[in-house]
Amino acid sequence: MKVAVGIDIGGTKIAIGLVREDGKVLKEIEFPTNVDGGPDQALEKMIQYIKSLYTVEPNIIGIGIGSPGPLDTKAGIVLEPPNLQSWHGYPLVQKIDSAFRTKVKLINDADAAAFAEYYYSHRSVYSHMIYVTVSTGIGGGLILNGELYEGVLSGAGEIGHMSMASNGPLCGCGKIGCLEAFSSGTGMMNTWKKKLESLQQPFDPDWTGKDLFEQGASGETTAAEVVKSGADYLARGISQAVQLLNPELVVLGGGIVLAQPTFYQQVVQAVPNYLLDHHKRNIVFAIAEQGRTAGFKGAAAAVLAE
Ligand code: BGC
Ligand code: ZN
Repeated sequence: MKVAVGIDIGGTKIAIGLVREDGKVLKEIEFPTNVDGGPDQALEKMIQYIKSLYTVEPNIIGIGIGSPGPLDTKAGIVLEPPNLQSWHGYPLVQKIDSAFRTKVKLINDADAAAFAEYYYSHRSVYSHMIYVTVSTGIGGGLILNGELYEGVLSGAGEIGHMSMASNGPLCGCGKIGCLEAFSSGTGMMNTWKKKLESLQQPFDPDWTGKDLFEQGASGETTAAEVVKSGADYLARGISQAVQLLNPELVVLGGGIVLAQPTFYQQVVQAVPNYLLDHHKRNIVFAIAEQGRTAGFKGAAAAVLAE
């Protein structure tokens, strides 16, 4: 059976896996992205680990890379992802290619995860699926008529940068009021910090998303409000995508959704508030089944499928 390497680059973590054609993960690793350190130090770690994979499995057929967009997937360049500021313009494919001289393919991270979810979990039942990932950023992947729809240069499904308000928070992409600025892990943390500061209450810089959800669940009003509002904006964004594309299935994944099942529930319960009856009757929601491996599995699958 064929095997390929999949890399999932995120704003917080990088995950790499050796993936077999049938979806079995043979080896995997995860390490912090350390965006401030720039792409070269991350590249060094990726190369080292992939070299170790070649010693286990010399017949690797290629390397697939899922990265937050915007990307130039044809030229293999990471253009300007809001959550990878120090990587802007980085010729990632060329760098990996010159280390391994193998087939290297770049694809949007949410597209990769969408493909893995669809291919390994849902393709026998559904033909139209939207995948939404909520982590440091918010991304989307579209399966239409049983196929991944990437648009021009992997730019389709950028749900995180849909404009939700003309006077909302500033997004990492430079626009105001994007869904990502309201509902991503980073977006909700920023809102929480601002709200607490305006109430002259302390905000601990070491707090993470986990603290936000824990405090919200234990009755801290500001945290609960931030989570509720984040879930509601996300529900509105998803409802717009549903009405635009009329999918049968919406899959939610990414670090925040996987770690916070109650957030997932809040979002799913709120989506119908914004849908036409027609769409309410014909939609199913699911949590990502491939979990944290979806990104690198989908990136590897992009190479294995060629
Ligand atoms: C990027 C998307 C990406 C998402 C999740 C967003 O900021 O624009 O391309 O899928 O983050 O990483
Ligand atoms: Zn944006």
